[in-house]
Amino acid sequence: MSRAFDILVVGAGPAGIAAAVTAAECGLSVGVVDDNPAPGGQIWRNGAHLPASARRWKMRFEAAPLVRLQGWRIVDRPQPGTVRAQSNDAEFAPDAAARDGADLHYRQLILATGARERFLPFPGWTLPNVIGAGGLDAMVRGGLPIAGRRVVVAGTGPLLLAVAAHLASRGATIAAICEQASAAQIAPLMLNLITQPGKLWQGASYRWATRNSRYLTRCWPVAARGDERLRSVILQRDGKQWTVNCDFLACGFHLVPNTELAALLGCSLDNGFVSAGELMQTSVPGIWCAGEPTGIGGVELSLLEGQIAGLAAAGKTQAAQKLARRRRGALSFVRALGRACRLDSQLRHLAAPETIVCRCEDVPLHALRVHTGWRDAKLHTRCGMGPCQGRICGGATEFLFGWRAGSVRPPLFPALVSTLGGTQAPVVTTSPEETL
Ligand SMILES: Cc1cc2nc3c(=O)[nH]c(=O)nc-3n(C[C@H](O)[C@H](O)[C@H](O)COP(=O)(O)OP(=O)(O)OC[C@H]3O[C@@H](n4cnc5c(N)ncnc54)[C@H](O)[C@@H]3O)c2cc1C
Repeated sequence: MSRAFDILVVGAGPAGIAAAVTAAECGLSVGVVDDNPAPGGQIWRNGAHLPASARRWKMRFEAAPLVRLQGWRIVDRPQPGTVRAQSNDAEFAPDAAARDGADLHYRQLILATGARERFLPFPGWTLPNVIGAGGLDAMVRGGLPIAGRRVVVAGTGPLLLAVAAHLASRGATIAAICEQASAAQIAPLMLNLITQPGKLWQGASYRWATRNSRYLTRCWPVAARGDERLRSVILQRDGKQWTVNCDFLACGFHLVPNTELAALLGCSLDNGFVSAGELMQTSVPGIWCAGEPTGIGGVELSLLEGQIAGLAAAGKTQAAQKLARRRRGALSFVRALGRACRLDSQLRHLAAPETIVCRCEDVPLHALRVHTGWRDAKLHTRCGMGPCQGRICGGATEFLFGWRAGSVRPPLFPALVSTLGGTQAPVVTTSPEETL
């Protein structure tokens, strides 16, 4: 398959939805590629219990004249102006055409690829039922029964409270909420929230929903214990350790932006985030970026940035500039959140020498310590070369050793050789009215 669009959006989370809807409503042909089966990204992909604003955006997305490629992911950029997508089902597709993937040509490209959780290794973190905080939340939204189960929620960032509140509302017992940051570190973020009453109210409602559970600052898990699954977690606070029996440990240390595609396309990064100008333009002409790859700021900011990028990519510069003024005010929250989630250096010493760091390739900490950088470690241990392509261990080794991946090479995700070989199909130019 091969298709051409005026504007192609990668990612159908809040930022991608807002960008695609806005651009399509300007009358341009727009395509959206997203690797989940349903649109919505991290927060809205499961349609149940969505707030009214989310339902409105999703309805606009469904109604807009868009080509939607759900369950497809971008794995390569064969040439400028073209990205290659592979269907998640390609491996099992009976026909060769589906296995060839799709070449998607664009005049303008909007990257709205979101972020993922950061995991840090500690003894027992690979046990069954030790899960990312957002990951457990998504599994429960997907149908995992949690009523009556004891859950410890740990790590850092506002996601912890949001997840704890949701799990509690589904009948889980939240044994503890452990935030690694100190109260003093979080205080400036609270002050910043005074200018954003909506967020303040949301945070307060999450805490009210979890009022029967202890919220401990400067507290983190030092070990998970169990047999065929997790049975207990050893927590530490101010040098004291104690054991909490539980069924699940939901653990995530804030978020890591998904910048791999932007890097592959040559967009400049700054301190791990995609550099974007006032109208969300990247350093590469014709490529725009919106949402969490440019900074972690929550769903409202992602929506705003998506609209700015959609308007700017559609050539509606004045309208985009108007919205950009609103974005400037929100950026102080991004900075305050980043500072509040800064990781305590003691967390660098959680893993024991034999603790697995790269869980795809079973690489323990002691095998990594002797190396000087990410590339060196990859070459000698295969760290980061498994199916997740360093998306889990990369965030950990960045914190543990200060390593940054030097360059990004295709494929971005495991891909079929036939997909990488490319498609011979003729280009189909997509009209704005067409919806797949
Ligand atoms: C459990 C949970 C609760 C939360 N609660 C709140 C809350 O209460 N308030 C709040 O403000 N924020 C909350 N957040 C954060 C919120 O989800 C994010 O701020 C928001 O989703 C960011 O939107 P986004 O569009 O930038 O990215 P995302 O929602 O992450 O969407 C990005 C999409 O792009 C897709 N993608 C990435 N790369 C590719 C590729 N190469 N090819 C195809 N598709 C790709 C991803 O799969 C994803 O679907 C929560 C997050 C979680 C996980």
